[in-house]
Amino acid sequence: MGAATIKNHVLTHNGTVGHATVVSNRLEPKGYAVPGLTLNPTYITIHNVGDDDVPGINWYNALHNANAEGWRTASWHVTVDYNKIYQSLRFNTVAWHAGDGKNGTGNRHSIGIENCQYSKDKEKQRQVWENCAELCILMMKAYPKITKDHIVQHYYWTKKDCPYLLRHKRFNYDWTWFKKLVTDKQGNVVKPVTSEFKPYVVRVIVDTLNIRKGPGVSNEKCGMLIKGDAYTIIEEKDGWGKLKFELGWINISPKYVQKV
Ligand SMILES: [Zn+2]
Repeated sequence: MGAATIKNHVLTHNGTVGHATVVSNRLEPKGYAVPGLTLNPTYITIHNVGDDDVPGINWYNALHNANAEGWRTASWHVTVDYNKIYQSLRFNTVAWHAGDGKNGTGNRHSIGIENCQYSKDKEKQRQVWENCAELCILMMKAYPKITKDHIVQHYYWTKKDCPYLLRHKRFNYDWTWFKKLVTDKQGNVVKPVTSEFKPYVVRVIVDTLNIRKGPGVSNEKCGMLIKGDAYTIIEEKDGWGKLKFELGWINISPKYVQKV
């Protein structure tokens, strides 16, 4: 299974998000904790589950049981652990997680993500936040109304001290760090390095310079440039430059060429 996507408001079951595998094959029907109202996602609300070292599967099952048996009305869309992401509700279904009331914007317009919390394991915690950031990016793609500044803390709606870990900088991970994680990961997704490359022109400063079929001396020679001529480089790899008009690569060390 490859990277997960969101289709019909559901993450790909067994798909990958960050370090996690998605579990999305048991979605909650309308019940005690799921009101069955339609959600048009405009925000993402970030939470911490509230108890340390309790695995995501426990929260996932707790929501399932509460919805069936009625011992708690709280609900949320996704539980993020370091190696698993559990989706409980379709993203176009309202959950009660923001605490701002039946008609609150948090409850009625945001997707709720609960994040597991670790008391001692910094590595697992980092993976939780990275998974959550990747998930936010998938959601922003699926729901264009969710802009980056519409990823908010639970605190934003009700002043509740949540997501507790980010608000209290556990392991030095805070809200600014998390938002930057989203920005950085999004940058990787939408701007591959090759598209950022700006072609430039070099002039050959040695008598002759070999053209090779690939970047590196182990590649076959396929031509030669001579001193004084200028050539456009359209890609770089390992100190070699790909020529625009000749089929091949040259060593772009300042020993051989000069930028024009
Ligand atoms: Zn919360």
